[in-house]
Amino acid sequence: MKYLAERNEVLQTAQEISAARLVNGTWGNVSRRVDEQPLMVITPSGMDYNTMTLEDMALIDFDFNLVEGEYKPSSETPLHLAIYKNRSDIGAIVHVHSPWATAFAVAHQDIPVILEETAQVIGHPVKVASYARCGSSELATNVINNLGKHDKALLLANHGLLGMGKNTADALRVCYIAEKTAMIASYATMLGAVNTLNPEDIKVLSEEFKYYGQKKK
Ligand code: 13P
Ligand code: ZN
Repeated sequence: MKYLAERNEVLQTAQEISAARLVNGTWGNVSRRVDEQPLMVITPSGMDYNTMTLEDMALIDFDFNLVEGEYKPSSETPLHLAIYKNRSDIGAIVHVHSPWATAFAVAHQDIPVILEETAQVIGHPVKVASYARCGSSELATNVINNLGKHDKALLLANHGLLGMGKNTADALRVCYIAEKTAMIASYATMLGAVNTLNPEDIKVLSEEFKYYGQKKK
């Protein structure tokens, strides 16, 4: 089987979004670009995350042909492809229906940068792409029209959240931080004040985060 590492990333991440309850049932989807190839690995549509296997993943080329895989690929394949075609820096996409982020998507409100983690991992407010039905090419178009050059997260109106990164670990972390930020912002609203960080601190936190943690030896 080809592209084992990419298949493995997608499967592990798909099982994690289910276990972490960022999705219910079979909703949500995960994809990974195959580096140096116009190909991506994406989860099959509507399949149980707990029993999904590496062979069940769909391998899709950038003309939307199913290159390998027995099952129908995710219904959001057009959206994933559109992002990879428009953003060469993105290597993985995680799409979830997590409740706090989705509350902002329903309110058509950006998730504000209120936490240092939000500044570090996302670096900007999370905008809302205007509504189009799930799986439609119109939804893919709305996403591209709302996606800035450096955006790592985007809300889908009345639907859910997209997290993007260089690999699935990065994209998943974006989803966790967007979800946490949306939850804290909602509680802070109840307390009566949502104080955002100032642009200077957001910039510095985001830049310094590149050096956070341990360097590879
Ligand atoms: P798939 O199961 O087809 O990936 O769709 C789930 C979903 O979240 C659609 O937006
Ligand atoms: Zn969805």
